[in-house]
Amino acid sequence: MPTMAAGVAPAPEDFSPLEKMPPPEPESVPVEPEPRSASQAQVAPEPEPMPHQPVSAIPSMFIVQITPELAPVAKVGGLADVVFGLGNELEIRGNHVEIILPKYDCLRYDHIWGLCETYKDLWVPWYGGAIHCTVYFGFVHGRKCFFIEPHSSDNFFNRGCIYGFNDDVLRFAFFTRAAMEFLWKSGKNPDIIHCHDWQTALAPVFLFEIYKFLGMTHPRVCFTIHNFKHQGVTGAQVLHATGLNRPEYYFHYDRLRDNFNPHAINLMKAGVVYSNFVTTVSPRHANEAKDQGQGFGLEPTLHIHHVKYGGVVNGIDYNVWNPEIDHHIAQRYGVDNIEEKYKNKKALRDRLMIADNEKPIVAFVGRLDPQKGLELIRHAIFYTLHRRGQFVLLGSSPDGQINSYFWSLKHQLNDNPDCHIEIGFNEELSHLIYAGADIMLVPSQFEPCGLTQLIAMRYGTVPVVREVGGLADTVFDKDYSYKPLNERNGYVFRDYDYSGLESALGRALSCYYDYPDHFRELMKNAMRYDFSWKNPGQDYLNIYDLIREK
Ligand code: ADP
Repeated sequence: MPTMAAGVAPAPEDFSPLEKMPPPEPESVPVEPEPRSASQAQVAPEPEPMPHQPVSAIPSMFIVQITPELAPVAKVGGLADVVFGLGNELEIRGNHVEIILPKYDCLRYDHIWGLCETYKDLWVPWYGGAIHCTVYFGFVHGRKCFFIEPHSSDNFFNRGCIYGFNDDVLRFAFFTRAAMEFLWKSGKNPDIIHCHDWQTALAPVFLFEIYKFLGMTHPRVCFTIHNFKHQGVTGAQVLHATGLNRPEYYFHYDRLRDNFNPHAINLMKAGVVYSNFVTTVSPRHANEAKDQGQGFGLEPTLHIHHVKYGGVVNGIDYNVWNPEIDHHIAQRYGVDNIEEKYKNKKALRDRLMIADNEKPIVAFVGRLDPQKGLELIRHAIFYTLHRRGQFVLLGSSPDGQINSYFWSLKHQLNDNPDCHIEIGFNEELSHLIYAGADIMLVPSQFEPCGLTQLIAMRYGTVPVVREVGGLADTVFDKDYSYKPLNERNGYVFRDYDYSGLESALGRALSCYYDYPDHFRELMKNAMRYDFSWKNPGQDYLNIYDLIREK
């Protein structure tokens, strides 16, 4: 069973998405199951890890993931890696997995094989009319993918990048409606629809309010929240556009109405309310979001729906992130020949034209978003240089102001032989950084899971992280953790301030210089952890099995 932060409800036999919803008006709405009263609600068990079920206990399932991102063809952040890695793991375990995503013009087409039209005339309801779409099929490193291409002057997915437009809510609401229409029209009948973040959170609403009454009664929905900060808060327009209509029905507090703004619809809330199960990407963050003010206003909704809410730590794909087989790095290595890692350090220095000396390389890879702790990253650059270290940063932001701030920092440090700032998105370079750096910094304000520390550990790069979310669930401090010595794998600090950062980064740098043997042990401990999809894959299968129609 998944490691639940908030507990798991028993299988919801006649699932009602709205726990406290009044019975719908019979003339306008198809009849919903009886609402469950609070007294009938299940009491959440204590959040203790539960034993994994043997794989054979769960029959094969047909799972469709509806997603705005997929690594490596459409990647902005960790969501993309999760959809790919989880899909891979589910298939390895004998399930049939299909992935539906928009056909962006900026897809990495060099990673798609056998792309061909598979469904020519998909008409997707939109503002009382319909938009004509073509659906393509192709393989992305073995994953079976359907790409939806709308033909309309809105030009939803031909904009050169994935996010950052005023009509993002409408773009992804359209995509989600199109994905559901495609499932219905093509006669697919998955056991599970797994959707991700606000962009696809309307999938269960469409399923349980529209398609169920057209005969699609079998699928159940798992909704994963990768980031509570972005919720898709919007106006009534989205109801009219997608054909949900009935604002008087959806603007109910127990349905889609935003918890703060009574005149707004909240798509992420819709996903929580209507899905059969809701996960976020670590148990720690599941608690933080529900009980510690990190739910960005969704706390009451998470409380109402707590029996179907929990956290599963993301995995990383060991076919992609594995120093023993990685094609993007200069020298492959494993825990048994870890000294080979240093050839990558040399290669990284050559590539970025920084000095080849005895200093440790501290790195940051990630979106340059305030969430990632930008002022601490800046401080860490100067602190590292001051403490005889080198610093490498790879990051980008859709926010022009943040980008230009880091451009000016880059210019300021241009002549420093111990520092390189690379602004942009570069998957290949990121591999070399994970392999070549000694220390990976993740000083986030909040971090639902975080993949960079997991990838870094796989490459024997010691993480220095703030004690939040998935970082706290996966990194255990060398000096202060409750774990046995051989399970400590990095450095952790609690307070979001300069001295907090220095307390952990300073210890890491001191250890590198003063106790190289200890540092080497820490690298090996980190490499020995299993952060593959094996355990989370089983956790998701258990969730699917819990909610599927039996
Ligand atoms: P988030 O999902 O908040 O962006 P995660 O740590 O979960 O953060 O995932 C980030 C993923 O995106 C990692 O695989 C990381 O290597 C990758 N990534 C982020 N920024 C860049 C970049 N500028 N270039 C290459 N890869 C990046």
